[in-house]
Amino acid sequence: MAGSETDKPESKKAAKKEQKKAEKASKKAEHRGGDKQTVVQEEVDISVGKYGVLPLIRSESKVERKYHKVCELTKDNAENEVWVRARLQTVRARGKQCFIVLRQREFTIQVLVNVSDKVSKAMVKFASNISKESIVDVNAKVAKVASEIAGCTQNDVELIATELWVVSSSDPQLPLQIEDASRPEKPEDAEGLNIKVKQDTRLDNRVLDLRTSANQAIFKLEGGVCRLFREYLTGKGFTEIHTPKIIPAASEGGANVFTVSYFKGSAYLAQSPQLYKQMAIAADFDRVFTVGAVFRAEDSNTHRHLTEFVGLDLEMAFLHHYHEVVTVIGDLFISIFKGLRDQFKTEINTICQQFPVEPFTFLDPPLILQFDEGRKMLAEVGVEVGPEEDLSTPAEKLLGRLVKAKYDTDFYILDKYPLAVRPFYTMPDPNSPISSNSYDMFMRGEEILSGAQRIHDPKFLTERAKHHGIDISKIQSYIDAFKYGCPPHAGGGIGLERVVMLYLGLDNIRKTSMFPRDPKRVTP
Ligand code: ATP
Repeated sequence: MAGSETDKPESKKAAKKEQKKAEKASKKAEHRGGDKQTVVQEEVDISVGKYGVLPLIRSESKVERKYHKVCELTKDNAENEVWVRARLQTVRARGKQCFIVLRQREFTIQVLVNVSDKVSKAMVKFASNISKESIVDVNAKVAKVASEIAGCTQNDVELIATELWVVSSSDPQLPLQIEDASRPEKPEDAEGLNIKVKQDTRLDNRVLDLRTSANQAIFKLEGGVCRLFREYLTGKGFTEIHTPKIIPAASEGGANVFTVSYFKGSAYLAQSPQLYKQMAIAADFDRVFTVGAVFRAEDSNTHRHLTEFVGLDLEMAFLHHYHEVVTVIGDLFISIFKGLRDQFKTEINTICQQFPVEPFTFLDPPLILQFDEGRKMLAEVGVEVGPEEDLSTPAEKLLGRLVKAKYDTDFYILDKYPLAVRPFYTMPDPNSPISSNSYDMFMRGEEILSGAQRIHDPKFLTERAKHHGIDISKIQSYIDAFKYGCPPHAGGGIGLERVVMLYLGLDNIRKTSMFPRDPKRVTP
């Protein structure tokens, strides 16, 4: 460990006297906010002006000072003097030394505050009293260490502090400890399970919970999914659009819609951008996508349902066959999976350290199965699904396992769903009275996309709506959108949080929603 005390023998007596004085002075020292508050000490405190609580930063002045990122600090910076702003993760005082671990997102580094010719005992004491999770500014020398520092991402160097300022202090009473919230989730770790922070405690204190390295990585990766989605589709000539979230009528039937008061009347929160994407196609946008909030008033208390989630939706005109669109969506997923695998290695590694993540497998081009083939595979293992029945959730999961065993892929497309289980606007299959031009896509045996060719003929659409018992007057403006000619088109809707959950093999969608909304939770 670098940075040992350098007392000279001849000055030992004098130094001891000085230290006694400094100790006394440090007891008197006050560390409060307000005006720039360095420690008021007698002149014996050689560190006066080098530590304390900074006044509240209100942008009164600009400071020309280069700050280093924790992740940049390696042996290459040895002997350099650096400034770092980071969170104090842990602090441990030992005699004349105080060891701090600073954290910046998922990166950590050790800081040594050590009594020396530059650092007083009062400063060390001040350091040891800073509450965990406070934000500090440290001026320090980067020093190589003889042996690796366990538990820090920057394990070949430490910082020898010469200045230490508290920028924003944390309440010392933390409702959860970041170390506990970061513990690996291993079923065989009995001790770990006892300390494990409960999901509700995490979500109640989400700001703290989100500070764990795994959460930092999960939400970086989630941002990556949106970026990769946009990049791929933009590259294929799609236009990003924004659809209204306040709508006059329930988009997909009335049951699971939130009603909001709207001046003297009421309106609804959109359950899908579906109808508006289609209207954009009728308005000649040709290929559109949108990323935005989708609301479902379903009392579904499951590991994969939220009442508000982020929809990644797309719609595309085609020439002759809706498979032109299925191919684009399949390629879109492959490009997202490749992007995550290649550009988010570090994040995936970090997440692996806390959660048991099985690598996600996929085929390029993706596997497309017919609904009837899926039924056959299930029948072979004794699970019967009728030709006009939907797959139950357990049947979907089982089929996912059978597909994985047979084709070694965690992603596949199931095409040609029974007409009876799809919405009224789904184009019936011209070759079978009970089938439709519709598809679902699955990751690890769970649905992540539903899509179809939509009916673009207003007469046929009216007929199908009536067949479903829908009040035509309520959807007239939707039907009218196709009155003036509309290209054949198909599309689909994807749930962002589900994609991230299933790509990583996590067990709950609340882990991939920053501030989840479910039937029992609308806070924080
Ligand atoms: P499920 O059968 O799983 O409830 P759904 O058939 O209602 O889903 P769609 O309306 O087809 O789903 O929505 C398209 C996609 O949006 C789904 O494949 C899924 O990825 C996502 N999704 C749907 N409902 C939810 C929800 N409540 N919470 C999170 N994501 C959802």
